Amino acid sequence: MPDDITAPKLADWIREFGHLVSVQRDRLNALDAAIGDADHGTNLDRGFRAVTAELDTIPQSDIATLLAHVGNTVVSSVGGAAGPLFGTFFILLGDAVGNDRHLNNERFALGLRAGLAGVVSRGRAEAGDKTMYDALAPAIDAIEATASAQRDLPDVLRAGLRAAESGRDATIAMLARKGRASYLGERSVGHLDPGATSAALLFTAATRTLI
Ligand code: ADP
Ligand code: MG
Repeated sequence: MPDDITAPKLADWIREFGHLVSVQRDRLNALDAAIGDADHGTNLDRGFRAVTAELDTIPQSDIATLLAHVGNTVVSSVGGAAGPLFGTFFILLGDAVGNDRHLNNERFALGLRAGLAGVVSRGRAEAGDKTMYDALAPAIDAIEATASAQRDLPDVLRAGLRAAESGRDATIAMLARKGRASYLGERSVGHLDPGATSAALLFTAATRTLI
């Protein structure tokens, strides 16, 4: 099981995501300034600083406890539309796989799929609405496909990252149908979606920490 994902690795994944968000805070705010209210980077950075501070105190032997803490802190401290959506993602990921102590690729894919289902049940986004869904869904499709083809973890995560980045870039041409950006109608076209951009960072962080 050398390739397996454990709770301490998941904690490193979340720490690295927080690091990427803090480095890219101003850029995420600038993307949100174009089609929203310029707070997406600030929201995520505030929330993931709280999560990172808490990570050292959460028991790291247990995937369920770790992800429930992370998800609840994200919901309560990120704010904006994205906070509850990212938080739900982590909570449902943990619920789906929480009894496992090690995740193989297929269990990780199953957890990510459950997290995405939580995002959809809260936000009702569909493909092409120009949201975080447009980065998350293709990434999870790619992770599922490569995991079920028995590829090794580095291949699985790199396939997820490539799909997340293409999905993110495809939001430029989309017209926003959910969230604040939808108020702009046609004027939302031609801009990257901030939530799809931050969601893609989850997969950058995964390739750096889970392999
Ligand atoms: P707010 O819009 O409340 O200021 P943020 O700026 O933090 O919140 O987050 C905006 C991002 O949230 C958008 O770029 C989009 O990706 C995502 N988002 C907004 N509404 C939804 C939704 N209903 N489903 C999925 N993602 C959404
Ligand atoms: Mg905003």
